[in-house]
Amino acid sequence: METFVIASNNPKKVQELNRILNPMGITAKTAKELGVTLDDVEETGKTFIENARIKAKAAYERTGMPCIADDSGLMVDALNGEPGVYSARYSGEGATDKKNIEKLLSKMEGVPLAQRTAKFVCAIYCILGNGKQLISYGECVGRIGFEPIGEGGFGYDPVFLTQDGRSYAQLTADEKDKISHRGRALTVLKSQIEKYYLDKYFSEVK
Ligand code: IMP
Repeated sequence: METFVIASNNPKKVQELNRILNPMGITAKTAKELGVTLDDVEETGKTFIENARIKAKAAYERTGMPCIADDSGLMVDALNGEPGVYSARYSGEGATDKKNIEKLLSKMEGVPLAQRTAKFVCAIYCILGNGKQLISYGECVGRIGFEPIGEGGFGYDPVFLTQDGRSYAQLTADEKDKISHRGRALTVLKSQIEKYYLDKYFSEVK
């Protein structure tokens, strides 16, 4: 199994990435699991792709190993795309999932269900061992609920409603992977990686 360094310390994200990458013969490990310390990088990008690139480059420069970084977040139409790239730190210093959700729900007070449309967005930046760079992107649409529901998932999952009215925190891991922004971005990445290895194989056997 090929090992990729994942530039994230969010165990739920690492699990989600591995669920999809493992069947391809790739295992994603955090730098910590590999005994390497990554300096904190400032996510100064204005887009998800810029931030994913910043994180992947820093990990690649530090380890020289294939690296994968994702940057993701929630964009709410009634709030002009907020919290966007600030999703993780929406409620400011010492932000937690609970505080972020509380801030979101208070800003959405009085907004009717029809206008509570939102999307999750995920950009993935992957740098292979020889420095080749792959970028993939995925989105999924839903609505912001009126209160947190469900115990699973992470982040804004308890207030992100699917078409059948369940929140993302009520979905099984399999159900979430099939429709989520991260699942979709990873499916694109998967075919990019497969194409890369196929091209490499055929250029070597010629
Ligand atoms: P990142 O680690 O900078 O990509 O921060 C992403 C933030 O967006 C997370 O801390 C969550 O608040 C939110 N987020 C991203 N993906 C998801 C998801 O699948 N479910 C719920 N919240 C998410």
